Amino acid sequence: MSEAPTISQGGYQPPDPIEVPPLYAWPPRPIATLRWIFTGLLFPWGFLFIALAVVSWNYLAPSLDRMASLELEWIVLIWLRNAALLGLVAGGLHCWLYRYRAQDQAYMLNTRWLETDNRKFLFRNQVRDNIFWSLASGCTVWSCYEALTMWAYANDHIPRVEWSDAPIYLAAMTIGVFFWSTFHFYLNHRLLHWRPLYRTAHKLHHRNIDIGPWSGISMHPLEHVIYFTVFFLWWVVPVHPVLVILTGFYQGISPAVSHSGFHKLILGGRTKVTAGDYFHHVHHKYFEVNYGNTPSPVDKLFGSWHDGTPQAHAALKHRRLARHRRG
Ligand SMILES: [Zn+2]
Ligand SMILES: [Zn+2]
Repeated sequence: MSEAPTISQGGYQPPDPIEVPPLYAWPPRPIATLRWIFTGLLFPWGFLFIALAVVSWNYLAPSLDRMASLELEWIVLIWLRNAALLGLVAGGLHCWLYRYRAQDQAYMLNTRWLETDNRKFLFRNQVRDNIFWSLASGCTVWSCYEALTMWAYANDHIPRVEWSDAPIYLAAMTIGVFFWSTFHFYLNHRLLHWRPLYRTAHKLHHRNIDIGPWSGISMHPLEHVIYFTVFFLWWVVPVHPVLVILTGFYQGISPAVSHSGFHKLILGGRTKVTAGDYFHHVHHKYFEVNYGNTPSPVDKLFGSWHDGTPQAHAALKHRRLARHRRG
């Protein structure tokens, strides 16, 4: 099938089915796995978040001495840094794709542009609604968890590993952040689809059927409290604080990319960069499939994996119809 960007009535349809990464293949495929880790998992956004975490730890974080006592002043600084970086990525993508429509509808997964007059959104405006929940609640809960973890490091409540002592272990754990975050996402997201929690909290995120960069962490405060428990692993598994910052960036900023609503970015007229996560996009469309992310393919185990093809759409429709008839 052709790779040319096309718009069908259902938005851009990537040509290939979504597959489980080669890491999980049997017999093992080590070369394909290595290639996937560096190109599929980390390039380019993962490397960007790693770089941002290193810069933030060295230049944009209060000293550990200062963080030894919980004070609003330095927690606000962490909030400001996180909000600024989220604003840079989500705001940048939003301006490029939706305000200036720099690539028009090429690779657009959404069927429509974002909503500007719908009562279901705060201020009747999807983008303003999304920005409000992302900054007021999302960034605040994320920064509080991060601050609490840093405070625990500063007081030796949790063990810390230095890069000079265990560089290979910490390099492996850096990649581990991406697997842990996506595995944790399946767990917390599956829980949020439990009806009482869905109705109280997760419904707010699902107001967004067509999604944009600011939809990424546009969630109910209760969902944020659950979603950012991702930090807790580092309370028991010893790592370096830079990985805590990376965890925050991957959990807090990468959804702006995955929710961009465009499968690829076209930069400078021809350079194509991976952007929207079609796997999660399908979740926003159909709700009861694709609870996780592809790097930790738990959906495959539980039969909720939707590979994004028209055949899978048809099979899901058929299952729903059969359930409806039985019920
Ligand atoms: Zn989402
Ligand atoms: Zn959901």
